[in-house]
Amino acid sequence: MVGTSKKIKAASEKGSVAAKKEKSKAGAGLNKEERQVFEEHIAARGFRMTRQRGLILDMFLKKEDHLSPEELYFLVKTKDRTVGRATVYRMLRLMKEADLARQVNLGDGLARYEHKYGHAHHDHLICLRCGKAIEVVDADIEALQEKLARKHGYSLTGHQMDLFGLCPGCLEKEKEKSSK
Ligand SMILES: [Zn+2]
Ligand SMILES: [Zn+2]
Ligand SMILES: [Zn+2]
Repeated sequence: MVGTSKKIKAASEKGSVAAKKEKSKAGAGLNKEERQVFEEHIAARGFRMTRQRGLILDMFLKKEDHLSPEELYFLVKTKDRTVGRATVYRMLRLMKEADLARQVNLGDGLARYEHKYGHAHHDHLICLRCGKAIEVVDADIEALQEKLARKHGYSLTGHQMDLFGLCPGCLEKEKEKSSK
């Protein structure tokens, strides 16, 4: 199992967010609100907040990152070895339903999740070589998407825009290689 953990850790670093979100939004106040939203959501579905569910929620909310279910499972296991993989996967589904989590695609073939509740809309620029992902938003592009949808008679409720390529660091390495 040691080998697996190592692999997951490497994957976690690969998917880490370069541009951290504004500090004010990641404060404890928001976490409390997110927790309340989640508790209300599961209560409406007849579930109760258990200690394990609370732990998984906390571990997810603590990390401003794009986490895969395996990475979250690994994080939770460091606090409580008795939590099962299925519980973590089920929690991710519930957090998505409750609009606390949003699924993102970073081009590595893994389903990844980031915080949604209380976080401003953003798009992603993703490096396919090192996995560095930054969060970006451009008012002109957002407006063009609205215009495009209207042109086809659609009214937009949301979108995901993930742009793939090479980051400045990987481009630099590429240049060094070709100049040798
Ligand atoms: Zn956007
Ligand atoms: Zn890169
Ligand atoms: Zn993001």
